[in-house]
Formats: sequence, C-alpha cells, structure tokens
Amino acid sequence: MKAQVLNKYDESLTAASWVDYQDVPDPKITKPTDVIVKIGGAGVCRTDLHVIEGVWKPFMDPSGNNLLPLILGHENAGWIEEVGSEVEGLKKGDPVILHPRISSGVDIEHRRGEDMHGSGSFPGLSENGGYAEYLATGVRNVVKLPPDLAPKSVAAHADAGLTAYHVAKKASRTLLPGQYVVCIGAGGLGHIGIQVLKAMCAAEIIVVDKSDLALTLAKETGADHLVKADGTEVQQVLDITKGKGAEAVIDFVGEKGSTKKGLDMTRPAGNYYIVGYGENIVIPTVDLIFTERNIIGNLVGTWADLNELMSLADRGLVHLATAEYSLKDADKALHDLNAGKVKGRAILIP
Ligand code: ZN
Repeated sequence: MKAQVLNKYDESLTAASWVDYQDVPDPKITKPTDVIVKIGGAGVCRTDLHVIEGVWKPFMDPSGNNLLPLILGHENAGWIEEVGSEVEGLKKGDPVILHPRISSGVDIEHRRGEDMHGSGSFPGLSENGGYAEYLATGVRNVVKLPPDLAPKSVAAHADAGLTAYHVAKKASRTLLPGQYVVCIGAGGLGHIGIQVLKAMCAAEIIVVDKSDLALTLAKETGADHLVKADGTEVQQVLDITKGKGAEAVIDFVGEKGSTKKGLDMTRPAGNYYIVGYGENIVIPTVDLIFTERNIIGNLVGTWADLNELMSLADRGLVHLATAEYSLKDADKALHDLNAGKVKGRAILIP
C-alpha cells in the first residue's frame, strides 16, 4: 500500500519535506482481535508536527529504540476491511472511527473504561498510524459510525473532538443554570468544546480569544459572551460574573500566561480544567486552600466519550470545519498547518 512515512526528525521544522510518500507492506492481522481499517480520512494535527520535531520521543520511545520509519496519523476513520477470528459485530464496509489508543482491555484502567491510561500504544506516535491506505488496530478501539456520518468528515474527532468532548462533559456535569463557564481559546478544540457545552449544559458560556475571527466562530457555535483577550480579559470575565469569576474555566491554550489568567477567572470552589500545554502552573498552596479551587488535567477521552460525541455529530449538534487534502499531499498539509494556513482541520484522503 501507499503511505506517508516519517524517516527522520526535523527539530527546527525547517526542512522542505518531512514525510515520504512510499510503498510499504500492507498491515496484517496478527491477533484474533485485530481489525484492518481502510482509511477514509486521517486528521492532520499539531501533535504530528511535534512528532516530526522529536518532542514526543522520550514519552513514546522510552527505551531509546529508534521508532523511525513511522507512519504518522492518530486521528483516523474509515471502513472495516478485515477482522480477526474473534471479532464479532463488525463486517467489511462498516464505517468506523478509531479511538486514538490501542489498549489491551485487561488492565484495571481499561476495565474502568479509561483507555487513555494503563498499558497500550498510540498509532501514529508509537506505531504505524493512518497516513496510509490501511491501518491495523484492535477491536476495542473501533466505534461504529451512524450511516449518515462520512469517515472523512469526522476523522479529526478521534483526537481533537474527543479531547474537547471529554473536558466539556466533565465540566457540564457540575454546571447549573445561572452559572458560568469560560473557554479560553476558540480554535480547533475550543470551537468543538463550545458546541458540546451548548448541547450538554445550561450555564452561560464565556469565550476568551485574541482573534476576532475566532470570536466570530465562537458566536456562531454558541457563545453567550465574547471576551477579546487584550490584556483586560480577567477583568472582563469578572465584570460578566458579577465580580466572582466563573464556576468552570476550560483552558485550551495552557501557555503564554493563560494559566494564571484562567485561575484568576475561576471563582472560589470552582474548577479550572487544563487542556492546552506549554507552561508551568504556579500558584501559592495557601491560595488554593483558601479559595478551594480545583485544578483538573485532561487527556483525550474514553471509548464511551467518542461514542457519545458521534451521537451529537449525527444529530448535527457538533460540526467540525475541515479542509481536504489528498494523501499524497500530506507534506503540503503539514506545512500549511505549520504556517497557520489551514482553515479548519486538514484531513488526508487516500
Ligand atoms: Zn491530534
């Protein structure tokens, strides 16, 4: 089959070409629970750029073995091509989306439904991913799609959407009418998070972003209050929330000072959810104690979360903006993403 292969890292992200379009062996069923998926769409994610930079090497490859060559792509959807002898309920041609982690199902975390924890692997990071015609995965990671959802239109939900859904669902469980939730950042993840919050809770949604374009998108996707991040955003949020701050703050940025501002927008006993990453969170312990604020981490989501998100997408409640590229143009898609030239989410189509 054809695939886009990362053959060497580029720490400075300056090379003219990062991945090579080449012939590789077809993936094979090796375990009775394996599934081969014909890729219908693979999302191009900022994490792929970090993989190319080598940022993920220490996490995904702790033994120091060289992982390259590696087929990128962790946001995958398509159609069942072949199933192992123990796989039931899936047949060739069924449209599916894939949870980003292949888990064994025997760890206690997996039995609790937390597939992102416990042992497992990440296609596209620690083993071959979906920038290819076919992908091998495990049956536990397969979510069947409703018949009206095209794999290419939902592929990026496998990571970006799932992460936004996971945190918005967590926040919505404690949010009541009359309360407030702040989303810092209305980009790729943020604009999905806003739609999920709109569908799942009755709190008023305040969106903070420095881009007027992002704020316009936020308004269209359900924001009740728009706050321009111009240096006065904390005060603007306090003004909207009658001086108290919001019950929930979801920080999709996590760098360039957003964590301090996010915590300053969180009211006493409120929850600050961190999704974006880059800087350290610095806060005096006594300050957390006096205010009883909670800082909550978030890592992708569960298999059930992905199922629920597909239900929302099927009902037209969560829309993902996409820009389609042919698989052979993966390098262009990655460079466009790096240059900030992709409108919506880039999707590779074999
Ligand atoms: Zn991703």
